[in-house]
Amino acid sequence: MIIVMKPDASQDTIDRLLGRIEDKGLKPLHMPGAERVVLGALGDERVLAELGLEAEPSVESVKPILAPYKLAARDLHPHDSRVKIGDVAIGGGRFALLGGPCAVESEEQLRASAKAAKAGGARILRGGAYKPRTSPYSFQGKGPEGLDLLRQVGDELDLPVVTEMVDARDLDLFVEKADAIQIGTRNMQNFELLKAVGECGKPVILKRGMAARIDDLLMAAEYVLAGGNEEVILCERGIRTFETATRNTLDLAAVPLLKEKTHLPVIVDPSHGTGKRSLVAPMALAAAAAGADGVMVEVHVDPATALSDGPQSLYPEQMEALGHQLSRLLHALGREL
Ligand code: PEP
Ligand code: MN
Repeated sequence: MIIVMKPDASQDTIDRLLGRIEDKGLKPLHMPGAERVVLGALGDERVLAELGLEAEPSVESVKPILAPYKLAARDLHPHDSRVKIGDVAIGGGRFALLGGPCAVESEEQLRASAKAAKAGGARILRGGAYKPRTSPYSFQGKGPEGLDLLRQVGDELDLPVVTEMVDARDLDLFVEKADAIQIGTRNMQNFELLKAVGECGKPVILKRGMAARIDDLLMAAEYVLAGGNEEVILCERGIRTFETATRNTLDLAAVPLLKEKTHLPVIVDPSHGTGKRSLVAPMALAAAAAGADGVMVEVHVDPATALSDGPQSLYPEQMEALGHQLSRLLHALGREL
């Protein structure tokens, strides 16, 4: 329920209404705006109706929040949210480029790939230490050692780091080592994992499940928000369709659609979205043009020897070219890299 207060509603009245909402066992929300205060009440619709808030003289209107994802929806939160990873802001008008190898393989590989990412304009380093692979025989990642390397190289190059967590039991380690936690496509509906990161106090990059609808993604985000973590970034990374010419079908219409439905920042991963190096830069530019708040790409110092996702990893010089192109495009759109 969204409760719009009249412009002259006093603080005492607002506090009293928030108290009444809470007394009913509902979750009260307080959103002061430039002209008027908006309150929210989340919980059982029947209990909400019993409150009879329409009858309050200081209340202008009471509207239901129609979306099932109450905290992610724009209804309650009309302005774009901005999430910070380290000191890099994403969303609310800020665009960020995230880059790095698919997986942390060795200190040398990570350092050289991270330097390439940075030279190409990336301000956040990505890299997987725990890799959820389709085959149990594929490289599974370096685990805790990979996290240490990521932290070390991130600090050396002054880049905050984001990395994927696959098991809630590792939460403390990730909170200690990472600046943001990624939930991958295979775990978008791993609700225990979502609840864990909902309570962790670190920004979360939530990737769209490869067979998930937009509303499924928003409901997954709602789990994290409902846990008390407001720092959620959504990531479109392609979905499974009948098309096999690309690894996934990158759904760029999801970007403006998500931005209509939610206040959360939206980034795009054209590397997993296409699976093909030559398509990464064009789709990264298209994502920025579609209104994405950032782009995350895989770059490797030597893609031919990569232990995972070599065919979609940019060469360092391609990363640099992409950084220049993105910067020119964003400038033309009145935004900055
Ligand atoms: C990744 O970003 O390395 C990754 C595994 O992505 P996804 O979960 O989108 O496949
Ligand atoms: Mn990858």
